[in-house]
Amino acid sequence: MDISVVIPLFNEEESLPELFAWIEKVMAENNFSYEIIAINDGSRDNSWEVIRKEAERNPLIKGISFQRNYGKSPALNVAFEAAKGNVIITMDADLQDSPDEIPGLYKMIVEDGYDLVSGWKQKRYDPVFSKNIPSKFFNGVTRRVSGLQLNDFNCGLKAYKRKVVKSIEVYGEMHRYIPVIAKWAGFEKIGEKSVKHQERKYGVTKFGWERFVNGFLDLMSIVFITKFARRPMHLFGLLGSLSFFVGFIILMWLSISKLFFSTLGIADRPIFYFGILAIIIGAQMFLTGFLGELISRSAPERNDYKIGEKIGL
Ligand code: UDP
Ligand code: MG
Repeated sequence: MDISVVIPLFNEEESLPELFAWIEKVMAENNFSYEIIAINDGSRDNSWEVIRKEAERNPLIKGISFQRNYGKSPALNVAFEAAKGNVIITMDADLQDSPDEIPGLYKMIVEDGYDLVSGWKQKRYDPVFSKNIPSKFFNGVTRRVSGLQLNDFNCGLKAYKRKVVKSIEVYGEMHRYIPVIAKWAGFEKIGEKSVKHQERKYGVTKFGWERFVNGFLDLMSIVFITKFARRPMHLFGLLGSLSFFVGFIILMWLSISKLFFSTLGIADRPIFYFGILAIIIGAQMFLTGFLGELISRSAPERNDYKIGEKIGL
């Protein structure tokens, strides 16, 4: 099978028939063998009934329905496990992403050898203040932190080599950082393709203001997990030792000066409190690192590594 089209959706009943018909048309014109996997993320409207009907008409349409709303990332994760195509293409259900981009994305994966190609909504049809400007800021920070030069990390339209989706895990709201997760899983050839973007035709956006807060907390989790989850002592131990050392020097210096030249009491000098604080925080950080190390040592997945290829085994 050439392509699995993965569509996470939450209350998108109006868009679905149009979207499926459009995808089918593009697939037929290009002679692709394909499947469409629609993940109903606990919709409260008739989305699931619509999918059921569409699947009767075209058996290449497959559906997974969550019992409740878990979010876009869990929906993608479940579809990634189920997908059978050589290339996996994700797109939003709201008709903002155009199925006409599928052949171009497919070609970049298959012919140009990209592991992942991310869509770039170069001209974007979303509200300027609540979406476009915050998103510029968000993309800037993510570029900095990840070292990955993409303009639009969170575009719903993306294409993946099969082995990429089979070896990454997307949970919480990590869908914003899939290129970063893929990069840290060892997939270096990550590209970008400028794609057409439309205004939302039906329904409303499913992400409110809380996405900024969640977005940045998730970024911190990703950095921490990919860099230090298996060696927490290297982060906490270092910070803790530094803090402890600074506190120790301060207190030493205060004690010596008290003994030899100062007439002030030690506790009358403000920096005394800072020294004590630094020592306490340092000891706590060190212990946190130590506990983290013990936990990660007994984690069942401590020896899970992504294996690229094997010979003779
Ligand atoms: N979505 C989902 N679960 C959620 C929220 C959103 O499956 O909890 C889907 C939604 O139906 C759409 C896609 O994720 O297909 C992108 O959502 P939306 O268009 O609301 O985001 P925006 O384009 O406004 O950033
Ligand atoms: Mg949208």
